[in-house]
Amino acid sequence: MTFETLGLSEQLLRATAEMGYTEPTPIQAKSIPAVLKGGDILAAAQTGTGKTASFVLPILHRLSDKPAVKNNQVRALVLTPTRELAAQIQQSVVDYGKHLNLRSTVVFGGVKINPQMMKLRGGVDVLVATPGRLLDLYRQNAVKFDQVETLVLDEADRMLDMGFINDIKKILAALPKQRQNLLFSATFSNDIRRLAGGLLHDPLEINVAPKNTAAETVEQKVYPVDKARKAELLSHLIRTEGWHQALVFSRTKHGANKLVKLLDRDDIRAAAIHGNKSQSQRTKALADFKRGKVQVLVATDIASRGIDIDQLPQVVNFDLPNVPEDYVHRIGRTGRAGNEGRAISLVSADEISLLHDIERVINSNIERQEIEDFEPNHTLPASRPPGSGRGRQGQNRPPRKNGAQQKPWSGSKSGGGRSANGGGGGRNSNGASRNTSGANRNTGGASRTGGGRGTSGNTHDAENFGNR
Ligand code: AMP
Repeated sequence: MTFETLGLSEQLLRATAEMGYTEPTPIQAKSIPAVLKGGDILAAAQTGTGKTASFVLPILHRLSDKPAVKNNQVRALVLTPTRELAAQIQQSVVDYGKHLNLRSTVVFGGVKINPQMMKLRGGVDVLVATPGRLLDLYRQNAVKFDQVETLVLDEADRMLDMGFINDIKKILAALPKQRQNLLFSATFSNDIRRLAGGLLHDPLEINVAPKNTAAETVEQKVYPVDKARKAELLSHLIRTEGWHQALVFSRTKHGANKLVKLLDRDDIRAAAIHGNKSQSQRTKALADFKRGKVQVLVATDIASRGIDIDQLPQVVNFDLPNVPEDYVHRIGRTGRAGNEGRAISLVSADEISLLHDIERVINSNIERQEIEDFEPNHTLPASRPPGSGRGRQGQNRPPRKNGAQQKPWSGSKSGGGRSANGGGGGRNSNGASRNTSGANRNTGGASRTGGGRGTSGNTHDAENFGNR
């Protein structure tokens, strides 16, 4: 299939050709004709599938033959959870719309609101926004919704995880009833289904990335190791396996900083990216990582969201995420677009119940492989027999000092690549927690796409994150 068959205008076809796209991705092939017709969409799609173009291209097409927008009005509204994603989508609007004469801008929190108000004053065709800041702007009459024709909820699952549901509901209540709705989500919880049920009218359901796609295509391994030796093992792997570009996930900002220091001590070039870092530090870390100056980027979950690095070969879970779905998001950073990818999890005994949760979500057991000289000493407390009520397995309790040692790594064997499958079983009592952190410091950038009427699409924004 080619883009020409989808019904897009010549200007948009030219832009996609200039981007080097030769054929639409599966989600684009399905979504573009449906959106052009004005229908609603419910799409299961993750970053990396080409989902942004799947809504931006047909939206731009529909907007391009309408008269100019005025007076704080907006025609297409894209809601997205983080500033980084917002900025990336806005950049796509600028790129795909370079031969059109449409106005677009991006707004998110943590920065001065006044410049954003100024940019909205004349109205914009496409507004990309995080929900909290959009609501602030609406309450201050800086943006008007009377002419909204199309609403996009991008990464809807993430917006709910980040606690945006009330803001979203308030925004929905203020929008015209008659409009097109496009909902994109990587996962489909009951909450998402409820939201979709109240929002969408006879939607076309598109499922190009079933929940566990990444889990099926990325080579995954668990390396059992004692907590205290994780950094040492990571350093060993980087050196012996010659990793030149690894994205390492840390559950906490403090943990990320500490790990960078430890790696530095071993002469491994590393940088951290998380919500406590200044914008310039984050931008620099990501840029250095992309051009190979930094070998290891240590990130928290929120910070990593939406980072678009092609062909990232190696993802490491230094800590397992508290929320099993985050594991799927994390490993989705590698092996994209048909490239081979590897995801390694360094798992200590206190994380075994998190591991079991993840294996339940991805519906398979991850191969265990003990690394010679790093075999774990610490063990789990005796696990409760199945069906004996709510266990305490999920809590971090100290290992038993003596007595029969029970290895949590069922079926594993140490050294030189020998491995066996294990895992499964054991419900845990770990309360899943949501990371809602992510500081917000940046400025929005307005731009006019195409026509030479001034562009200021701030590409640096694409390397930031945060909410509101
Ligand atoms: P997305 O899933 O929207 O984040 O897109 C992921 C990456 O795929 C981005 O770098 C896009 O520029 C790229 N992309 C989108 N559509 C196509 C296409 N049809 N052909 C090649 N690359 C594409």
